[in-house]
Amino acid sequence: MSQSATRAIRAKCLDCSENFKSVAYCPAFECALWPWRFGCGPKSAAHRHGAHVTDPKRMPGGDVDLDELPTSPRDYEPGDPT
Ligand code: SF4
Repeated sequence: MSQSATRAIRAKCLDCSENFKSVAYCPAFECALWPWRFGCGPKSAAHRHGAHVTDPKRMPGGDVDLDELPTSPRDYEPGDPT
């Protein structure tokens, strides 16, 4: 995917979900843009933010309070908070 396309996806996600943190923890795993929400491909996102950010089973769902999560998804421990 071209860099301009990934940038456009990033802009779309920020428009959809307000800020970096809410995009990072976006619980809409079924969204076609979800793997690209960091403005880069899934491999780059995993490298930059941790492998868990590209695996819906290891990310918190929509029922978790965003304020309880670390700002950086790299600091998120899959499975927390309980
Ligand atoms: S992945 Fe989809 S639902 Fe989530 S912020 Fe991006 S556009 Fe919105």
